[in-house]
Amino acid sequence: MNENYEIPKTMNAWVLGGVNEILAVVKPVPEPGPAEVLVRIDAVAICGTDLEIMARGLPAMVEGGSPFNKNLTIGHEYMGTIVKLGAGVDEYKPGDRVAVEIHAGCGRCERCREGMYTSCLNYGMNYGDHQKGHRANGFTTDGGFAEYAVNHINTLVHVPDFMGDEEATLIVTAGTAMYGLDVMEGLYAGKSLAVTGPGPIGLMSVAAAKALGADPVILTGTRDERLELGKKLGADYVVNVKKEDAVEAVRKIAGNIGVHYVMECSGAANALNEAAKMVRRGGRICLAAFPAQPVMVDVAHFVRNNIYIFGIRGEGNSATHRAASLMAQKKINARLLHTHTFSLSELPTAIKYARERIDNAIKVVVTNEKKL
Ligand SMILES: [Zn+2]
Ligand SMILES: [Zn+2]
Repeated sequence: MNENYEIPKTMNAWVLGGVNEILAVVKPVPEPGPAEVLVRIDAVAICGTDLEIMARGLPAMVEGGSPFNKNLTIGHEYMGTIVKLGAGVDEYKPGDRVAVEIHAGCGRCERCREGMYTSCLNYGMNYGDHQKGHRANGFTTDGGFAEYAVNHINTLVHVPDFMGDEEATLIVTAGTAMYGLDVMEGLYAGKSLAVTGPGPIGLMSVAAAKALGADPVILTGTRDERLELGKKLGADYVVNVKKEDAVEAVRKIAGNIGVHYVMECSGAANALNEAAKMVRRGGRICLAAFPAQPVMVDVAHFVRNNIYIFGIRGEGNSATHRAASLMAQKKINARLLHTHTFSLSELPTAIKYARERIDNAIKVVVTNEKKL
């Protein structure tokens, strides 16, 4: 299939105004540069980080500073169809369906050269005097709440024909969970894992860990319906922390010595101290969520017990490719997370559903009504 697409000069897009303000605008359709493609966005999921950006600005940055009122299109969990190739692209062709990673590192800083492109040292240095080539679509460069976006080919992953648009938007979510498992040491089959917090990343961590052979996988949270969903995705045990003590319950399940790994996805203020008590001596903790305020931590406990702590940023280590593979093999059923669909023109309503969890919303997806 080598299709010719008619590409308009301008497109509908949403941009970040002031705090919690999203504005409908018309923007020029961007041009793909060398090693880039133009993606017609077919579906984009709303992420907790989008809500965070709207409320606080960070982690989005434009020109090294605040992203408010800078015409920035946010939205980063999108998929679509390649409609135009930049110079030198032969890895993809028009008509290919792709999901995207958020971060295209600059390729020239120390971290990018080490492969840690989600920790690019030129993050946010994209415009004005800082043309460093780094892209984090929806964070530092235009993202997915629009009809088109430009992506570097390093950020693309093929979507199989049988996978629906809405499901494919979850590849990057699953990729973030996979990256968390990577940094803890790659998760060997048979190792035990506790996941704290059944949000999308937590639920995808459960599914990815189970697909990779973790045993047992324990999920903790406060809402029974989310915990039930966790069971469907592969959790061997679930713990409702409103009904029982999370640390005690996890330790008991893990032979009273604690689990090998904890994936912290709740952002709760006491989560790190609790994780330290859930994990066994010499164990590893990955932090994939952030508390709203600085927290007190019992450092001595970490030192005495040789506990390792890792923070992750995004979907590094090409983890989206492995996540896409597990989803294509039907070992991760990401469809269970998708609860609502709206059209791009209804974005403010979609955001409201995601923010207020109306009707038990988990992943709210926005689709491009002009796709066909
Ligand atoms: Zn996200
Ligand atoms: Zn870099």
